[in-house]
Amino acid sequence: MRRTAIVVDAPSGLAVEALPLVEYVGEGPYLKPEAGAIMASLGEETPVPPQDIQPEEMDIALTADWLETHTHITLKRAPRAWAGLRSFVADGAPVVGFDPTAENFFWLIGQGGYGIMMAPTLARLTAALVTGTPLPPDLAAAGIDLAALRPGRF
Ligand SMILES: Cc1cc2nc3c(=O)[nH]c(=O)nc-3n(C[C@H](O)[C@H](O)[C@H](O)COP(=O)(O)OP(=O)(O)OC[C@H]3O[C@@H](n4cnc5c(N)ncnc54)[C@H](O)[C@@H]3O)c2cc1C
Repeated sequence: MRRTAIVVDAPSGLAVEALPLVEYVGEGPYLKPEAGAIMASLGEETPVPPQDIQPEEMDIALTADWLETHTHITLKRAPRAWAGLRSFVADGAPVVGFDPTAENFFWLIGQGGYGIMMAPTLARLTAALVTGTPLPPDLAAAGIDLAALRPGRF
């Protein structure tokens, strides 16, 4: 699924580092601080074949329009933009675990739009599963259900 983001200069006087991530409830557009600038994305999930993905002009224009409509930001030039692919499986949850049929093949995929934020936790789950050790206590206490993540659950 393709997602596009733009990065624009913050309005002068705005303490960007103090900004929270701002988004609508559920899926949708969001903006957040990005190294002293502001990053915005429509949060779109456009199905595309695997490829070296590039941002589409229309997605950049729609994102810029959303930002100008919902904030005091006015864009005076074309924003810096990039697009990336995120992989999903049918239930939208990640897949973490050994393949049920291919011996010693381990799946760690399907992080969707949250792969950066989930990376530390998924890495610790993976380490425990690969080494055959118990889940770290804090992850077990948080109620992480390995069955909900295992390959072959569909
Ligand atoms: C615009 C945008 C904004 C996002 N914002 C957030 C966010 O705020 N927070 C968050 O948590 N997540 C965010 N994500 C999602 C996050 O980036 C992904 O979930 C994460 O990058 C997935 O990590 P990965 O290592 O599984 O895959 P990727 O980061 O996609 O890495 C896969 C790598 O494999 C390479 N590759 C693919 N095919 C082959 C091949 N055949 N041979 C060799 N190499 C290959 C690719 O070039 C790529 O480098 C965002 C994604 C996008 C696109």
